[in-house]
Amino acid sequence: MIEHSLQALALSLKNKEISSVELTQLYLDRIARYNPQLNAYLTVNPASSLGQAHAADERLARGEGGPLTGIPIAHKDIFCAKGWLTTCGSRMLSNFVSPYDATVIARFHAAGAVVLGKTNMDEFAMGSSNETSFFGPVLNPWDTTRVPGGSSGGSAAAVAARLAPAATGTDTGGSIRQPAAMCNLTGMKPTYGVVSRYGMIAFASSLDQAGPLGRSAADCALLLNHMAGFDERDSTSLDRPAEDYGRELNAAAGARPLAGLKIGLPEEFFGEGCAPEVMHLVEAAVAEYRQLGAETVAISLPSMGLSVAAYYVIAPAEASSNLARFDGVRYGYRAPDYDDLADMYCKSRAQGFGAEVKRRILIGTYVLSHGYYDAYYLQAQRIRRLIANDFAAAFRQCDVIIGPTSPSTAFRLGEKASDPVQMYLSDIYTIAVNLAGLPGISLPCGFAGGLPAGLQLIGDYFTEARLLNVAHRYQLATAWHLQRPEAFD
Ligand code: GLN
Repeated sequence: MIEHSLQALALSLKNKEISSVELTQLYLDRIARYNPQLNAYLTVNPASSLGQAHAADERLARGEGGPLTGIPIAHKDIFCAKGWLTTCGSRMLSNFVSPYDATVIARFHAAGAVVLGKTNMDEFAMGSSNETSFFGPVLNPWDTTRVPGGSSGGSAAAVAARLAPAATGTDTGGSIRQPAAMCNLTGMKPTYGVVSRYGMIAFASSLDQAGPLGRSAADCALLLNHMAGFDERDSTSLDRPAEDYGRELNAAAGARPLAGLKIGLPEEFFGEGCAPEVMHLVEAAVAEYRQLGAETVAISLPSMGLSVAAYYVIAPAEASSNLARFDGVRYGYRAPDYDDLADMYCKSRAQGFGAEVKRRILIGTYVLSHGYYDAYYLQAQRIRRLIANDFAAAFRQCDVIIGPTSPSTAFRLGEKASDPVQMYLSDIYTIAVNLAGLPGISLPCGFAGGLPAGLQLIGDYFTEARLLNVAHRYQLATAWHLQRPEAFD
C-alpha cells in the first residue's frame, strides 16, 4: 500500500480494499516508528487526522469521493491549518495555533484529503538544508548523516521514507525542487500566482510559491489540480480558467512520445559548478530524452550567474518587511522579562528568531535603507528583469530547459552550516526560476554514491501540464523514481 500511487490509493479506497481510517492509521504508525530518527514531522494530531479520515470514509460510502478523498497528506509547517500548531520552524511561532486554514489547506480539505501532520522546515523557509529549524535538523532517509535539502526538508524526508503518500512544500528560491532532488522525489514549483499564498506564512512575497512534493509526476499533477486556482484573498493570485494538469499524461504515444519537443541546454547549466557525478547523470537523462524523441538545442542564459546575488538582495528585503509583524504583541513568542514596550519588542525578536533569520533581516533592512536602496535593491530588480528576458529569449528557441536541480547530492549535516555563502550556492540552478516567476520541476535521474540526484525541467509561464508530461514520459521509461531508502521498510 505504501508504494501505491495516489491514483491507486484512490481506487483502493473506492473499492473498499482499505478505509481512510486504516490508511491514515498505517501512516501514523509509521510516523510513530520512524519519525524519532528523521525529525520530519513537527506535529501529528492523530485524533484530528482520524476524525477527518472518518468523515472521508462516510463521504466515500455515499459515493461522493473525488481523487483525493480519504488520502492523508503532510503539510509543510508554513501553511496555517485551523486548530493546528503552525510554527514555520521558528521559536517565534512555537506557540501559535492557527485560527484559520490557508487556501491550500482549505482546498485539500474540500477535496476530502486528510491532514496527516505538519512537517519540519528551515526557519521561515530560509535555508537549503533544514538545519535552521528551531526544532532541530531533519535527516535524509537515504543517509541519516546527511541533510534532506531545504527548506521543505521535512516534507521531502517524510515522503521519501514513506511516512506520507505525498506532501506540500513552498519554493522561494528552490525549496521544493532541491529537497526533491536530494530525497529522490518529484517536486514542482508552479508559475508564480497559480497557487494562492493566502495563509502561507510569507518569506519573500514576490518569489514564494507553493507546490507539490510526491513520488511521481503523475502524483504531482493530481496534487496541483487541487492546489491551484484563483483566490481573491491573494492579490497576486491569477484569475485563469481551471485546468487539468494531468491532461497530457494519458495521451497515447508511441516509442517516441516526445517527438517534436525542443529541449534547451543552457551553457550556464552545463559548465563548471556542478559535481561531475551529478553532471554524468544529467547528461544520461538528456540522452534518454533524445531516445524519447526530443531534440536538443544549445542555448544561453547570460545573466544567470547574477541570480544568487540578486536573490540575496530581493529575498531579504521582502523578508525584513514581512517579518516586521512578529513583535510579541498579538501572537507568537514574547520574551518573559522586559523593561518597557521597546525592550519587549527587542527581546522578543532577539530570542524568537534564529541566526539565519536575523542575518536576512539585517541585510534586507540595509538594502532598503535610504542611500543604499538605489545601489542594491533597484540594481537587483534590474538584474531580475534581465534574467526574465534571458528566459523569454530562450523560450523562443526551445520548449523546455533542462539542467541539474542542485550542484551536488545531499551534503553532510554541518558541512555548510557555518558558511552561508556556500549554503546559498546550493541554489544556483533553481533561484533564477523564482526570480522570473516560471514553473520548474525536479525529478529523480539516478544515484551517485548511493545518493539521489535531481534533473530540473523549466518551462515557460503556465506550461505546468507540459512539464509534468515531459517528466512523466521519462518516468515511464526509467525506474529511478521508484527507488526507496532501504532503512525505512
Ligand atoms: N535556500 C534559499 C534560501 O535560503 C531558498 C529557500 C526557499 O526556497 N524557501 O532563501
